Amino acid sequence: MATPTRDAVDVRTLSHWAGGKPVEGTSGRVAEVTDPATGAVTARLPLASDSEAAAVVAAAAAAFPAWRDTSLAKRTQILFRFRELLNERAGELAAIITAEHGKVLSDAAGEVARGQEVVEFACGMPHLLKGSATENASTGVDVHSVRQPLGVVGIISPFNFPAMVPMWFFPVAIAAGNTVVLKPSEKVPSAALWLAELWREAGLPDGVFNVLHGDKTAVDHLLTSPDVKSISFVGSTPIARYVYETATAHGKRVQALGGAKNHMVVLPDADLDLAADQAVNAGFGSAGERCMAVSAVVAVGDIADTLVARIAERARALRTGDGRRGTDMGPLVTAAARDRVAGYIDAGEAAGATVVVDGRTGDYDADGAGFFVGPTLLDHVGTDMSVYTDEIFGPVLSVLRVESYARAVDLINANPYGNGTALFTNDGGAARRFQNEVEVGMIGINVPVPVPMAYYSFGGWKNSLFGDTHAHGTEGVHFFTRGKVVTTRWLDPSHAGVNLGFPTNS
Ligand code: NAD
Repeated sequence: MATPTRDAVDVRTLSHWAGGKPVEGTSGRVAEVTDPATGAVTARLPLASDSEAAAVVAAAAAAFPAWRDTSLAKRTQILFRFRELLNERAGELAAIITAEHGKVLSDAAGEVARGQEVVEFACGMPHLLKGSATENASTGVDVHSVRQPLGVVGIISPFNFPAMVPMWFFPVAIAAGNTVVLKPSEKVPSAALWLAELWREAGLPDGVFNVLHGDKTAVDHLLTSPDVKSISFVGSTPIARYVYETATAHGKRVQALGGAKNHMVVLPDADLDLAADQAVNAGFGSAGERCMAVSAVVAVGDIADTLVARIAERARALRTGDGRRGTDMGPLVTAAARDRVAGYIDAGEAAGATVVVDGRTGDYDADGAGFFVGPTLLDHVGTDMSVYTDEIFGPVLSVLRVESYARAVDLINANPYGNGTALFTNDGGAARRFQNEVEVGMIGINVPVPVPMAYYSFGGWKNSLFGDTHAHGTEGVHFFTRGKVVTTRWLDPSHAGVNLGFPTNS
């Protein structure tokens, strides 16, 4: 098949989405969107100016009063309709994700399903928003509490989950009565626009869900605009820290989820075939571009040689290529990401790590010049090597060898990140200690990627999350609403001097 050139595909021009319709970009600043499996440019994306960002926020602000006053019954009917449409058309969204992110179609479908779980959770909003009431707190005095929406909420998302990460937030925000401005990653903008169309089809009023494309200019507008009441951010740690500091300084509530370095500890009693299978899934799924990917396998005791051999055998069997062709692993998102990851492998090798499986060269099942790095396994990795200290965000598994369980836990607790971690063992007592001692937000026991269900909340510790509220679940409902307590005194009718036929009770 011929290699596609940059001119061989139709290059679409994308728009923002505000007030229920596409809005053309006028800033003159544009980013190119590529298909990472072929390297072809597929779209041009407008990058908003400050005034364009203000116009999108204004559309969301204008829609808020009517949406917050729309009954819960009506709001949840729209949520249910959105769920049905997404169920029917999930394949379309998965294809869009694969075309811009590169992950294989089955991973893209899995991403949509995990996002859909949050929609289903948000369908239960009438129950989740129920307040509490106390009768006769003082004589003749009753108290009740309600939770009310914030207003316009900002969501800023990363490239690696174009649909799921925005869906961690917007179903809950919308069901709770807020209006949304979503600023997707400029690398993967089309999923957000597809979701906007789906909301329109589901009957969501214009202006409740808006998409603002852009870079730092758009983000800075959201962080500083007095009309934006909260920020939900997911991305790398340096930007998460910046977002947290800037938006809180402007009086907003913020949840800013950052990067990760997730360890998988394998104890000597573990089932090593299970551990090897799961290390491969968790290390190379979505080409390692997952904030819950395992990047460090910590082999405890004398199992390391056997474990490394079993992981290597499985890694070598993976087929890397275009995610639309039934391959096991797709490309990295950009040429720059590919070069960065390859550079880390070079650095690990130079620092003394053993390259057991080398993904820097290989045969890829794809046409064109895609951004591929194959599965890579490094052994004898030290804690001072950049392959260990940095988040690589690519298909690179590092094996560290330690002598004891205690050393493995020390390693994890000394790491500045604390997103996810897993322990492989058949010892319930060890598992119990691990979940108690380890300073990480999400723990898996014989489960390598312990992403919580939508009705629990998702979030890490330390440099993996700035703020104290995790995503979705009841913490999400709390984040997107604020509490109000009403204290009421009604005089008994018998005291009002009007005879309504009530018996006197004094
Ligand atoms: P990124 O930080 O580069 O970008 C995230 C968002 O911030 C994008 O929308 C981007 O446009 C914006 N942005 C980038 N630079 C900015 C700047 N200087 N000022 C203001 N805004 C800016 O992250 P990414 O490369 O898109 O995503 C990968 C990162 O996201 C990894 O570090 C990964 O671990 C992390 N991530 C974390 C989680 C989690 O749950 N903790 C989930 C998914 C991804």
